[in-house]
Amino acid sequence: MVVSKRIAILGATGSVGSSTLDLVEADRDAFHVVAVTAASNVDKLAQIARRTGAKRAVIADPALKAALETALEGSDCSAEAGEAALCDVARDADLVMGAIVGTAGLRPVMAALEAGVTVGLANKESLVSAGELMMGAAKRAGATILPVDSEHNAIFQCLGDGHCDHVERLILTASGGPFRTLSAAEMAVKTPAQAVAHPNWSMGAKISVDSATMMNKGLELIEAHHLFGLPSQQIDIVVHPQSVVHSCVEYKDGSILAQMGPSDMRVPIAHCLAWPGRMETRIERLDLPTIARLDFEAPDPVRFPALRLAREALEAGGSAAARMNAANEVAVAAFLDHRIGFADIAATVEAVMADGDNALPGSIEELLEVDARARALAAERVGRVAA
Ligand code: NDP
Repeated sequence: MVVSKRIAILGATGSVGSSTLDLVEADRDAFHVVAVTAASNVDKLAQIARRTGAKRAVIADPALKAALETALEGSDCSAEAGEAALCDVARDADLVMGAIVGTAGLRPVMAALEAGVTVGLANKESLVSAGELMMGAAKRAGATILPVDSEHNAIFQCLGDGHCDHVERLILTASGGPFRTLSAAEMAVKTPAQAVAHPNWSMGAKISVDSATMMNKGLELIEAHHLFGLPSQQIDIVVHPQSVVHSCVEYKDGSILAQMGPSDMRVPIAHCLAWPGRMETRIERLDLPTIARLDFEAPDPVRFPALRLAREALEAGGSAAARMNAANEVAVAAFLDHRIGFADIAATVEAVMADGDNALPGSIEELLEVDARARALAAERVGRVAA
């Protein structure tokens, strides 16, 4: 008899959420969606809840609870709202898909980990901000974190047994984003629409801008450090424009294992959904003769200062990465809102990183205070630049 996995999808209305739904809805014997959540998109959330038969739907904004109740009338799905409800559904599943964007995903993911629930983690910002706290919570409760991010999922697959004992270094590949070949001056005049037009991946707006600045790779550097427990010096970044090799592990004997696959988030998501097994998918396969060649080049931290800033944050430790991440979230939102230019994103992050100490927060509450202070500093700087 097939025992279906009970899945809660946090951020079900987003890009990773939609890819997850596509896979689980294709195999209703193996997966049972028990809860779905969103920030404010009531109609889409209600449609997903009705379609999947989820019993709980949570909207993050409490002011939208009544609208969700109306949208779910006649179904047997309960309408819930607020952070406590997000945390509650995260505790009650076999697998939580953590696909909320930004630090907003932190408390629900922590709730799942503290309850010992396996988490498929797409929400890299929470790990960047609170890596020590999250990994500590997972260890104490015996919870497993399965990396959804394609690069970390690739490394997880190449590690096989999950241990880094014989590893020389991890090699994170980066597409280089839409501005890979541009000068700093050419990038400075790019618009939000141009920044979100990623050459290989279709993703949410925030991560698409992060790819254009290459802060996405910086966040992934810190994410890799927490997930796999290796220091900055053992994690390299290599630009690989085709996004076919999703990352590699180099072992002490000189072997490099790489994971390849199509640029489709459903591949790493399927790996997490079926782990420790494998599931069949109808995703278009890679055709190596058509691809014909794979290119690799060194990254350029001068044109892409976010790469340098992320490495500095990782090496500084403490709260440096949390402050960097918070400033980046504010700056990216301001750029998407046409309030600041492309080059102002990294400049804002750098200014916030230079203003404050890096003491390590001992709790989520302390971490969120650090996060709030960094956001306030970033907002102040954004306001000045926009004026
Ligand atoms: P999207 O912007 O497409 O979706 C974000 C989801 O989070 C939506 O469901 C949104 O709800 C919800 N959400 C937003 N803000 C809040 C909040 N304050 N509280 C609760 N829920 C909220 O993002 P992506 O799917 O692109 O990315 C999700 C995460 O996965 C990010 O951390 C990203 O870095 C990571 N990731 C994404 C990849 C991709 O291919 N997209 C690849 C690898 C990692 P609503 O629709 O109502 O706004």
